[in-house]
Amino acid sequence: MAQDVTILGAGAVGICTALSLAERGLLVRLIDRGDPGQETTFGNAGVISPWSFIPQSLPGLWRQLPKLMMGKHRPLSVRARYWPRMVTWGLAFLRQGTPARVQQVADAMETLCAPSIDLYRRHLRGTGDEALIRDCAYVHAFRDGSRASLDAIDYRIRRDKGGQLELVGGDELRRIEPALSPDFRAAVLIHGQARALSPGRLASVMADKARDLGVEILRRDIRALRRDETGWRIECSGESYAAERVIVAMGAWSADLLRPLGIAVPLASERGYHLEFPDPGIELTNSVTDTDAKFVASSMEGGMRVAGQAEFGDIDAPPNPKLETRMLAQARAAFPDLNASVPSVWMGRRPSFPDSLPMIGPFEGHPGLFAGFGHSHYGLMMAPKTGELLADLLTERVPNIDLAACSTTRFSRGLIPFSEAHHG
Ligand SMILES: Cc1cc2nc3c(=O)[nH]c(=O)nc-3n(C[C@H](O)[C@H](O)[C@H](O)COP(=O)(O)OP(=O)(O)OC[C@H]3O[C@@H](n4cnc5c(N)ncnc54)[C@H](O)[C@@H]3O)c2cc1C
Repeated sequence: MAQDVTILGAGAVGICTALSLAERGLLVRLIDRGDPGQETTFGNAGVISPWSFIPQSLPGLWRQLPKLMMGKHRPLSVRARYWPRMVTWGLAFLRQGTPARVQQVADAMETLCAPSIDLYRRHLRGTGDEALIRDCAYVHAFRDGSRASLDAIDYRIRRDKGGQLELVGGDELRRIEPALSPDFRAAVLIHGQARALSPGRLASVMADKARDLGVEILRRDIRALRRDETGWRIECSGESYAAERVIVAMGAWSADLLRPLGIAVPLASERGYHLEFPDPGIELTNSVTDTDAKFVASSMEGGMRVAGQAEFGDIDAPPNPKLETRMLAQARAAFPDLNASVPSVWMGRRPSFPDSLPMIGPFEGHPGLFAGFGHSHYGLMMAPKTGELLADLLTERVPNIDLAACSTTRFSRGLIPFSEAHHG
């Protein structure tokens, strides 16, 4: 049977998009080389927040780079071979950190994050696994209490947009999260978010629901995408598939697929790690961030997960064992009673553009080809709205937001300064 839409990549974005399209009656094929949702989507920190719309590049960040890369906690690193690409990407990233631009990007990100909890609840309805999403707060914990200020730009923007934020001292913080070290003297609580108790299982459950709605899920390694006289042809290992309309949702791998078509996008593979402690001996009620080490900890079905690090490196470079050791020490320091034995270790790749926004929408000059990738640190929470927007575009409904900020041409047209010369 001819499919209306073929989606390449079954991460959170591909799966949510398949659900939204199938709900509107379209015939959908979803292709991934692995089981649905078992790459980047599997290992994230599980934060699903309407209030996580603050981009990564903030005013004055450049001054903190030495500390972020060489200080005590070192949440940021660049693999040696990646530096030539990093310079161009990093400069474009830092140029985004003006107050005006942060506000603009936050406005765009808000529209993608705002309905995240409601849409996940809708996708889970009737599956029997509705409890995979749990309401909570986001606890941003500070060792230096004087740094915890609700007037900082990221908290001010959240408050301006109606976020319920609260500043608490050390005693109150330990009442809320008793497992946190007394080294933390203050915290900002962001109320009104949720967390996934197992991002990987959340993806599997939604993929099963998509199958029930008629989505065809194929396990194939996608090798190339090309256009012939009848439409798109997706070359997979061994066979190929014809498609009139294609959505590229391959996360960090999307850029390599598009390059032979003459589409160059400044997508970095911003690698992150998690350690999951199967028998932690402690329990967290919320998503908890150590604002120095910049990891997020959360109690999940498989134990306590600590997820973080921003390591810019080649997409296929092996994991860096030094970062695993560093994260283990950081988890122990933040949670002194943690039973840190035999954690499972994972590395994944955030698909990151310099402005923290994804690409959502058509590629000009490539009829029937759409983007749904580049969700950087926010892809779990932005996936359901991305799916709704793509479903709007493919059913010729006018999306209820202006998608210009997420356009596929914002870098190539120079709307966001970026020199592509060094970015392969
Ligand atoms: C440590 C860490 C913590 C994070 N924490 C959070 C968080 O708390 N909240 C949040 O919202 N986001 C978080 N993120 C970001 C989030 O995980 C990503 O933005 C999101 O998973 C991206 O989803 P995706 O569907 O675009 O990509 P992916 O999940 O990577 O899916 C892409 C899919 O494409 C498939 N694919 C790739 N190449 C091929 C090929 N050649 N053939 C066939 N299939 C292919 C892959 O197998 C994969 O399944 C975190 C990320 C990391 C690394």
